[in-house]
Amino acid sequence: MIGAPEPATERCSRAGCSLPAGWKVNWRNPRIHAEDRVKIWLACDDHVDYLRDYLSTRDFPVVVTDLGTSVQRLGI
Ligand SMILES: [Zn+2]
Repeated sequence: MIGAPEPATERCSRAGCSLPAGWKVNWRNPRIHAEDRVKIWLACDDHVDYLRDYLSTRDFPVVVTDLGTSVQRLGI
């Protein structure tokens, strides 16, 4: 391991899961977050659908992207 420039592996946000994350779940709670606020959960392949559904069933705006993509703003 000589000077590897890669950051530490990002881990899934799902409780109890320690798999490497491959997805970003970008979301906000319209009741408490301003429109330009974006919260980010990280998700592995197994849990990306679970986390997205968890948020969308609460009527939170949610957008799933790969780890290299940034979301500046979430619509309603
Ligand atoms: Zn996971």
